Amino acid sequence: MFENLSERLSGVFDRLTKQGALSDEDVATALREVRVALLEADVSLPVARDFVKAVQEKATGQAVTKSITPGQQVVKIVHDALIDVLKGEGEPGALKIDNPPAPILMVGLQGSGKTTTTAKLAKRLKDRDGKRVLMASLDVNRPAAMEQLAILGMQIGVDTLPIVKGEDPVAIAKRAKTQAGLGGYDVYMLDTAGRLHIDADLIAQAAAVRDVANPRETLLVVDGLTGQDAVNVATEFDDKIGVSGVVLTRMDGDGRGGAALSMRAVTGKPIKFVGLGEKMDAIETFEPERIAGRILGMGDIVALVEKAQETLELEQSERMMKRMVKGQFNMNDLKMQLEQMLKMGGMEGMMGMMPGMGKMAKQVQNAGIDDTILKRQIALIQSMTKKERANPQILQASRKKRIAKGAGLEVSELNKLLKMQRQMGDMMKKMGKMGKGGMLKQAMK
Ligand code: GDP
Repeated sequence: MFENLSERLSGVFDRLTKQGALSDEDVATALREVRVALLEADVSLPVARDFVKAVQEKATGQAVTKSITPGQQVVKIVHDALIDVLKGEGEPGALKIDNPPAPILMVGLQGSGKTTTTAKLAKRLKDRDGKRVLMASLDVNRPAAMEQLAILGMQIGVDTLPIVKGEDPVAIAKRAKTQAGLGGYDVYMLDTAGRLHIDADLIAQAAAVRDVANPRETLLVVDGLTGQDAVNVATEFDDKIGVSGVVLTRMDGDGRGGAALSMRAVTGKPIKFVGLGEKMDAIETFEPERIAGRILGMGDIVALVEKAQETLELEQSERMMKRMVKGQFNMNDLKMQLEQMLKMGGMEGMMGMMPGMGKMAKQVQNAGIDDTILKRQIALIQSMTKKERANPQILQASRKKRIAKGAGLEVSELNKLLKMQRQMGDMMKKMGKMGKGGMLKQAMK
């Protein structure tokens, strides 16, 4: 589904991972190529730009272990950035269908694959989730479309609302609701009419149906082959009638895949499913991890880097424990702590995890201590020389000025950081002294 993009990217990264050491220029060149590859795959320009920027930021100042090459590290960073750009909230493919009968409204342009997708989803709900589903076609302009849904229903063993000639879409929606309630259905799906283009009529009709059905999900079906157009269509549908998720069809084709990458970043709406063919089971949930893996096709490297990072973290924290026991705690240690805090969701997240710290988390929040502060503190430490990090006591006025300036911050903030490092150092010393059989020493055995 992402063959072209995937090929382009693996070309870029093959070259990168073969090199032992990487210069900033190597990385910059690779990222320029990534950007071009994304644009060629019809990813929208702002999304491609933000993507490359995010990778660049993460790639600078990353710790690399001996067991992996910098190029491999870059692959992992790109992989994670792909997941970020694809990821929506909640579980992939999850539909809100509690409180039966739950209405699902299907909207989209004609030919997008809306009717096919309605039936595919109905089959999926029936087979995988054991739901009783009723489908209704609201396409009164095209009797053939109504019959198409009825035929698909028979094929997959899902009931369809009997067709009554001359009824308008709102009346059909009401009848579907009543029938779904009386018939004990869990879900009823309303397949609205499509047009070749978005026009006022189409929107008015979909909105009228939405207002009577009060859908739990409004799924927009768009043709993945249309690239950025698919994203534009989604933006417009969402503005006019509001959608809860997107289904991208024809992802089995040799499309450039850009729609998938831009969709959430541009519209804010998650892709819930992808259509992968004409058959009734050719539908999959949209799983960012798997898609990112497919696009990069470098799962081995990603796994390798993950493993190496785990080992690195373990080594680092063991080393730090040893230093703590000895009462040593310099800026390198502090930086590591701050980075770990950031990773665990900042101060608040971390305190929320510790028993009895809930109240303190609130205070931290009230005091305005958040990730920004952690990031600033890290920036200050990064602005120090190696020698200064190891011996922060050597910092006099001129060094302080230089460091603060380098981080774009005030000396007063640096002073606060220094105080924090001293206090934490004292605390560590005390903890380290907590008896020979103390907690930390026990842990080191
Ligand atoms: P509607 O007008 O939006 O209801 O579109 P249809 O559901 O009638 O689909 C139009 C055509 O696209 C049909 O021939 C479908 O079989 C085909 N189609 C739908 N989804 C997919 C898909 O994911 N992959 C492929 N290859 N074809 C699809």
